[in-house]
Amino acid sequence: MSDHSSLFGTYMRIPLRFERGEGVWLITEDGDRYMDFATGIAVSSLGHSHPHLVAALKDQADKLWHLSNIYEIPEQTRFADRLTEATFADRVFFTNSGAEALECAIKTARRYHFHKGQPDRYGIITIEGAFHGRTLATIAAGGQAKYLEGFGPKAAGFDQVPFGDFDALRAAIDDNSAAILIEPLQGEGGIRAIPKQWLQDIRALCDEHGLLLILDEVQTGVGRTGKLFAHEWAGITPDIMAIAKGIGGGFPLGACLATEDAASGMTAGTHGTTFGGNPLAMAVGNAVLDVVLEDGFLQNIRDVGLIFTQGLASIADRYPDVVEEIRGTGLMLGIKCKCPNSALQLAMRDQHLLGVPAGDNVVRLLPPLTITAEEARMGLEKIDAAAAIVSGNLAKQA
Ligand SMILES: *Cc1c(COP(=O)(O)O)cnc(C)c1O
Repeated sequence: MSDHSSLFGTYMRIPLRFERGEGVWLITEDGDRYMDFATGIAVSSLGHSHPHLVAALKDQADKLWHLSNIYEIPEQTRFADRLTEATFADRVFFTNSGAEALECAIKTARRYHFHKGQPDRYGIITIEGAFHGRTLATIAAGGQAKYLEGFGPKAAGFDQVPFGDFDALRAAIDDNSAAILIEPLQGEGGIRAIPKQWLQDIRALCDEHGLLLILDEVQTGVGRTGKLFAHEWAGITPDIMAIAKGIGGGFPLGACLATEDAASGMTAGTHGTTFGGNPLAMAVGNAVLDVVLEDGFLQNIRDVGLIFTQGLASIADRYPDVVEEIRGTGLMLGIKCKCPNSALQLAMRDQHLLGVPAGDNVVRLLPPLTITAEEARMGLEKIDAAAAIVSGNLAKQA
């Protein structure tokens, strides 16, 4: 491990120093090339140094970087118009991160009920294994003990139910409930999909009880699963949705989207941000949308995703001692390991391929959405080679 003594010790850093990125590749100071299937955890959605994004950023940098939200920001309005045009939403609030987008989503849901004369409805029901960020409210929403420990009393108003237990979800609803908050496909939790039917049932449950449905599409959004947003696979829409990660293509950018009704409590002065929605972020976000909304872009994600799922299934067949199961949709994929996920992760890195560990002993693969079929096959060869080595090591140990 390198010594980062002047930094908080919150990260166990991998001793690799990248200097440049080109598409699916990251290049170290020494010129070593790594295939990036981690993408800053689903952030560099169009790969590294995408020419359209670089041009948009440089162009805006020459004009104007920052403006307070006390002024009109035309690029912000345009971006919001395009997002609402493409989704269920009527209103957008821009943030700098996923956790802030979730904070806004939670505040919007609580404020909705307050605005409708039911201030006691502030409870948010979430799902075990969820990840919603690292602020005090979002660690309470995620509910994971390892993220809550030592940070004082857990923020009030968050209840968790077991993954996949619809009866528990129904039973958790009471007079104080405001919303159900859910990731359509858990990322950090181990690429665990909420079945379509369950999402539809949850939507119906929310309607029945006057709850708002908040979707956390911070990781699943902006094309990652082969639809613009993952909830489209289930044919439902939320009332509120948090997005971030891929929407900025590497620039810190998030957003909370809501229907007109759900956003009705968020009147002047109820919420704010200094940096959120500034002209630099808006220029890059609009440029990401230019690419993602192009004809055929989402289809390519589905096509290359299929190459991955087929290739990974074949790897799973050949190395059953290493791979237990292949999970995911589009280019949000997970290898559930039989060996420790760290062993496969390390072996992949030795093959110059970067993945990300997730919960439930999974290695996540989140390649750039711009990846070609040829690059996908090259990546699969590296994963195959890594699995072969791990399998060989396991055989030696036995
Ligand atoms: C990454 C992530 C977040 C938190 O985003 P930050 O930008 O790190 O605050 C929230 N929800 C999900 C599903 C995520 O993957």
